[in-house]
Formats: sequence, structure tokens, C-alpha cells
Amino acid sequence: MKNFPMFLRMDGRRVVICGSGEDAARKARLVLKTEAAIRILGTDLDPELAGLVASGRADHHPTLTPATFDNAALTFIATGCPALDAALADHARRHGAVVNVVDRPDMCDAVTPSIVDRDPVVIAIGTEGAAPVLGRSIKTEIETMLSPRLGSFVALAGRLRDAVAQNIPHRQRRGFWEWAFNGEAFRAHLAGRERAAAEILKDAIAAGQAPAEKGHIALVGAGPGARDLLTLRAVQRLQQADVIFYDRLVDPEVLELARRDADRIYVGKDVGAHAIPQATIDRMIVNEALKGRRIVRLKSGDPSVFGRATEELEAAKAAGIETEIVPGITAASAAAASLQKPLTERGEIDTFAITTGQCRPGDAAPSRARLAHPGTAVALYMAVEKAEEVSRDMIAAGTPADCPVDIVASVSTRDERHAATTLGNLAQTIREEGLAYPAILFVRYPKSMAASAPAQQATAA
Ligand code: SAH
Repeated sequence: MKNFPMFLRMDGRRVVICGSGEDAARKARLVLKTEAAIRILGTDLDPELAGLVASGRADHHPTLTPATFDNAALTFIATGCPALDAALADHARRHGAVVNVVDRPDMCDAVTPSIVDRDPVVIAIGTEGAAPVLGRSIKTEIETMLSPRLGSFVALAGRLRDAVAQNIPHRQRRGFWEWAFNGEAFRAHLAGRERAAAEILKDAIAAGQAPAEKGHIALVGAGPGARDLLTLRAVQRLQQADVIFYDRLVDPEVLELARRDADRIYVGKDVGAHAIPQATIDRMIVNEALKGRRIVRLKSGDPSVFGRATEELEAAKAAGIETEIVPGITAASAAAASLQKPLTERGEIDTFAITTGQCRPGDAAPSRARLAHPGTAVALYMAVEKAEEVSRDMIAAGTPADCPVDIVASVSTRDERHAATTLGNLAQTIREEGLAYPAILFVRYPKSMAASAPAQQATAA
């Protein structure tokens, strides 16, 4: 480590910013987040710096005086003149200030990290100048993981520290804080119920202990595979979960976002093996939640699309367990995005239908007649193995055989594949290209095909 990370005390101290242009203004913006007094040294101030002086947030020394660096903890130097920068750096150091010269790492005592600010929680990221761009993308990743409300909750907890010390016996204090930063109060605060969160904490302090945790089941959409297609809420639920039940189609990349010590339980079906019956899955998730644990039932795509969410919700409700659905990006949306073909199209496609190639054993296939209308795009799920039947039924119902069909397999994963064909040639294309589960079949019957439809049907026949 060439640089050692430390947090500098800023309250009651001063930061001197030497310079009057945009670089100086940028550093001033950073220092404004702190409690330090700000002094600006320079003439012809940029309007932003002049505004700071006018508002009283900063004071102004047009030229260097013996008092300029009094009580300075830190100085940023950005005069634009190398000789002046060097002279000011010497001067500042003699007064005990830590020196940062903008864009001159060789002249710096300290460099500014990328900062994730959830004051009082502050995360600093540095790469010792080796990869500043990477530093910024790490910052973005952490930004998305931490709720914007985190800081105000931590500040509240900080205000309650003395009360906790007085009321919660020493041996239980660690457990209390673990509950405070993971439990009901924290979740209420993150959901915007700040007053309720404070009350939950204060009630627990008054009772001298953290209350027993209530179980909770979240049906969480994992999206089509790629982990950056998860929602921020899904990531948060994964990080709060004690137990995660996941399916075959959930990408391992996504599971990595969970807390390291969460239990991960696979409830999918391997090729050729029997699936765990849905009733067993319902029982497993409910039993875990009844132990007071936080359950995430992670489902590919959106839990509300062919996700058997109703069964699991009903089982939870029957056991009196609180539930939540976190929506996800369904495979059809991801496939349309990958093809760069929107699901609807002004003037051509005014109806978008989601349907399936297979239903419960014994149930009749879904009506394909409803889909055979100009202006309709159909996304078929679970239909690869039923392609023959699907295209036969759709053509019989009046969809032209030369309607374009896109097949998108394993969208957003390393195995993603596309093929373009027509409804009439669908099954043959799937066979020839060796396309397999999971795939979305898009059948498009645009309005402009309607006029010539009878001729096309004749061709198909
Ligand atoms: N809830 C899921 C659908 C589950 S049903 C969702 O909203 O996407 C399983 C079917 O989803 C598969 O047969 C396939 O048609 C589709 N599917 C799921 N993931 C897919 C992927 N990555 N690429 C293509 N199709 C996918």
C-alpha cells in the first residue's frame, strides 16, 4: 500500500482552496459536504466560488497573508501555474496542512478517493492512481447497493447509542445492534417509514431487548440471467435474506449478490430429473419463515409471469406470514431488448401477448385463435418443444405462415443465441439450429401483412 486510508477530522478546522477556476470550484463542492471552514485564496473568482463567499459559507483571501493557512487541516491547490502551486504547497506544509495539488500526484501528500457518501457512513475507494476509471465504476456499484436512506438511519442509531448503553445489558448489546441494522426498524426506515422505524427502536430500547424477528417471504424476480438486469430492490432483498430458494434458470452470478452467510437452497429441476413438487416448495419456504427468518424465493424473470407465484403467496398467507413481490425483467422484455425490436410498434403492433407452449398436464393448450389478429406480437414461453404444435395451431387459426418469428435462447447469458425464421418454418429452424430451452419465440403479425394475408395463407397451404 503506497497510500494509507485515514479519515481526516474536519470539524473546527479549515480547508484552504488555492485557485479561482473550475478545478478549485470542484474541490470546494467536495469540501462543502464537510463541517470544515472554507477559505478561498485567489482573485477573479469563478461565479460558483464567488457565490460561496457571498453566502458566507467561505471566506476569501485575494492574496496570501501570514494568516491564510492558520488552522488548515488540508489544502487543495489549483492555481494553474506550476511555480505558484509549488510555492503554495511549501507554505501550506509549514503550517501543518495536508497538501493536494490538483493533477500533480508527485506533489501530493494525499489524494482524494472516489467517495460514496451516506454520511455518517462514508466509503472511500482508491486505486493509487493505477485505475481511476475502475475506482469510479466500483463507486457506482456500491452506490446502487446502499440505500440513499442508509445515512439517516445510521445517524438515528448514533443518537440512540447512549440510551442503548443504559438500557440493553452489555452481553446483549451486539445482538441488539445486529437486529437494529438488519431487522424491522431498518426495513421500515429504508421503506420511507422513518417515524415508525424510530418508534420500533425506542420500544426495543425501553423493553431492554430486541424483539423476536417475524418471518417474511419475498418473491424476487432475478431477471433473465445477467446480474446487472436485477433491480436495486432485488439486490437489497438478496442482501437481507437469511435463506434463498432458487430455481434452475437463476444464474449463479445473481446468487453471488446474496449475503455470504445466507443459506442457498436449490429447488429447481435438473434435466431428466424430477422437479420438487410445488406443494413441497410451498411447505419449505413457509417452514423457514415460521422460524422468524427472511426468505427470498428467487425466480427467473418476473415472478408474476409463469412463476407459480400464486401458490406460494397463498401458502404464506395461510400461515400468516408477511409477503412481498419484487418484480423482475421478464424474458420477453430482455429478448426484445437484445433483438432491438420493440414489443409494440406504432402503426404496426398495437397488441402484445404473453402465452405459453405448455400448460399443466391434462389442460388444453391456450387458445391460439385469440392471437391470430393483425397488429399482434406474441411472446411464447416454454414453447421450444411444442414449436410444431404452436405453428400448426396458429396458422390454422389464421396467422399467416410467413409471419416473421425470432427465436432468442438463453438471453442475457453467455449462451445467448438468436435465429430468425417464419411461422411456417419454425419447428424446422429450431431443429436445424439446435436451439434449446430456455428460449422465447416471438411471432409478429404486423398490420401491414393483413392486406396480403389471404395470398400468404394460400402459399402456406
Ligand atoms: N418467470 C420467468 C418465466 C419462467 S417460465 C420470466 O418472467 O421470464 C420459463 C420460460 O421462460 C422458459 O421456458 C423460457 O421460455 C423463458 N425464459 C426464462 N429465462 C430465459 C432466458 N434467459 N432466455 C430465454 N428464455 C427464457
